[in-house]
Amino acid sequence: MMKLDAIINKALGLKFLSLNEAVLLYTRLSTSELMWLAHEIRKIKVPGDEVGWIIDRNINITNVCSARCRFCNFHRVPDHKEAFITSPDEYKEKIIELFKLGGEQVLLQGGLHPQLGLAEYSGLFRTLKATFPDLKLHALGPPEIHFLARKEKKSYREILVALMEAGLDSLPGAGAEILCDEVRKKISGGKCGSGEWLDVMRVAHKLNLPTSATMMYGHIETMEHRIEHLIKIRDLQAEKPEGAHGFVTFVPWPFQAEDTRLSEIFPGDYSLNSLEYIRLLSISRIVLSNIGHIQASWLTVGLPTAQLCLHGGADDLGSIMIEENVVSKAGASFRTDAEGITRAISEAGFRPRFRNQKYETMNYAKQSKDYS
Ligand code: SF4
Repeated sequence: MMKLDAIINKALGLKFLSLNEAVLLYTRLSTSELMWLAHEIRKIKVPGDEVGWIIDRNINITNVCSARCRFCNFHRVPDHKEAFITSPDEYKEKIIELFKLGGEQVLLQGGLHPQLGLAEYSGLFRTLKATFPDLKLHALGPPEIHFLARKEKKSYREILVALMEAGLDSLPGAGAEILCDEVRKKISGGKCGSGEWLDVMRVAHKLNLPTSATMMYGHIETMEHRIEHLIKIRDLQAEKPEGAHGFVTFVPWPFQAEDTRLSEIFPGDYSLNSLEYIRLLSISRIVLSNIGHIQASWLTVGLPTAQLCLHGGADDLGSIMIEENVVSKAGASFRTDAEGITRAISEAGFRPRFRNQKYETMNYAKQSKDYS
């Protein structure tokens, strides 16, 4: 018990825990103890009672992807009858809807499409920014950047600089899954490995591009893999240049198994375990002592579980997310609106704070701009 007390004090001092120390807390503390410790750290990192939320819209640039991740029901091969590339008119319509709802950011997810290169993505970003100067582009992710670098025979830096010049505002932490290659090879062997994922983020941090980090857990990984993942994220954050945005937030979400090849190859009980989610979120807050914000993914676990997470280390509920295709195609079906998410935050005992991707406070007001 002495040893556990010493580790708890180390965590409260925001010191970096070793893998063994974090595993010990994760496996030996009760859920209420883990939540208490995480909430104490939340109070140091994000003082006060505000909880962030945002409105953004997921638009899939394409559903064609060569990665063929075993947990993804969304991707299609290029000549599939359901294969698509989103048209300019579709973007326009979706972005106008977003503005009307009070949002200003789109989450553009790419997919590894053999025919889409740097020119196509840069052209798309430029067109969108020219039409909607206030629009924020939270777009692509390390797997797409790695794919583009190989396709164009350019460095990660050259690709990111070109995309930033075209209008990229921030880079989502998509495609992290579990940053341990023995796991990645079995679930998503067609995209970049963990070292490459981290390398892309390292370059993004040097360019002061805001990024986020994620984890998809609850498939074939062990508890040690989860902690190893968190430690890799934390150690990369420690490398970022002084004053750079780095990882602005961390978001864990559970594997959504329905009809996935992964659940066929590795059969098991993949039903949502809310307690497990809360425990993972709390240990994330404890280990990631150098990351500002921890977000509960209400979209995949539901609002009641996300509300509990606000007492276990989370200080953000993320977006009402107008569209999300990868998780919704694998069973997640939670929905809410601005009123629903702000009510959920208040019910949990906190004050809602409408924010942007950099976590700056924004005024929530429905837009009435005329883009017709
Ligand atoms: S999860 Fe993303 S990278 Fe993997 S197959 Fe689906 S679209 Fe492609």
